[in-house]
Amino acid sequence: MTMFAERLARTRAAMDELGVDALLLSVGPDLPWLSGYEAMPLERLTMLVVPRGGDATLVVPRLEAPRVVERPDVFALRTWEETDDPIAVVAGLVGAGTEVAIGDRTWARFVVDLQAALPSARWRRGSEVVGPLRMAKDAAEVEALRAAAAAADRVAAQLHDGGIPLVGRTEADVSADIGRRLVDEGHHKVNFAIVAAGEHAASPHHEAGSRVIRAGEVVLCDFGGTMHAPDGVGYCSDITRCVWTGGAEPPAEVAEVYGVLHDAQRAACAAATVGTPCEDVDAAARTPIAGAGWGDEFIHRTGHGIGIEEHEDPYVVAGNRTPLAAGHAFSVEPGIYVDGRWGFRLEDIVVATDAGPEELNRADHRLVVVDA
Ligand code: ZN
Ligand code: ZN
Ligand code: ZN
Repeated sequence: MTMFAERLARTRAAMDELGVDALLLSVGPDLPWLSGYEAMPLERLTMLVVPRGGDATLVVPRLEAPRVVERPDVFALRTWEETDDPIAVVAGLVGAGTEVAIGDRTWARFVVDLQAALPSARWRRGSEVVGPLRMAKDAAEVEALRAAAAAADRVAAQLHDGGIPLVGRTEADVSADIGRRLVDEGHHKVNFAIVAAGEHAASPHHEAGSRVIRAGEVVLCDFGGTMHAPDGVGYCSDITRCVWTGGAEPPAEVAEVYGVLHDAQRAACAAATVGTPCEDVDAAARTPIAGAGWGDEFIHRTGHGIGIEEHEDPYVVAGNRTPLAAGHAFSVEPGIYVDGRWGFRLEDIVVATDAGPEELNRADHRLVVVDA
């Protein structure tokens, strides 16, 4: 069985269990996960129709058909012409089904029209069916995440060895430079490249701007992109490293704070074993940071799941009792942020496996002093 056929079989089993008669997937990450095809976010409807019993059909505008890699073991292709009504096509394929699950990202205009065309259907979120399946990555997905993380690590290494000039350049310049390097290292596209110098590093999602980087300050770099797996589906990277500019060691206070963060992040990565609730991984990072007196300065959750989406389930946050399972992939990224002064964050992607946590990012975890 091919990888996509295997995912379809698991999806059908989930539909059986939940009593879902038809699953409808349009734009968003569920469709490429299940079919290898990513829908254009267009006013023209693309929709995979999976009836519980019957064969799946991918409904696409005719002009998009050349982009479709046909997978007869997963879906039949049904193209529609400019003068056809795709809502009627989809409604016809759903037939008499009463329980319909529809992808969470589907445009409201199509949901509204489908509800009118299928007045007796009951509707629920597609994520109820596909979410738990997508959360546990299969071997091909873990391999894709590994490749993306390795590419991001190579850019982090360039940052660490002084290959990316910092002092005298603006944050925005360095951000664009990091983006180019992500692409050079194999990413298909750049999703973000946060570059935050000095006091700006206290804002976790700081937007790189015109601030010129000086010697003797922290530069926080958090970057990631999407890299295509061999089957064409994109998987994300996401890494944060901080460096100290100017070639001289940082002040003792900075070294001490970074040491607390470093040890907390290492402890949380080590805690990410199969069976451990997500919130315990959060606590493994938070407890030592709070113990050192910086609890109020760690102002966000410890991490987020990652895969086809940059942020997806499972979230590593207090209150999430979900136990980690083999294949769960997520970031571990505690931070300490002091307004007006500096901030530090350290982020790796980790996969829970039966042999223990697999850390996909291997770049140096220290606050590296750079001459650049
Ligand atoms: Zn973030
Ligand atoms: Zn990040
Ligand atoms: Zn992240």
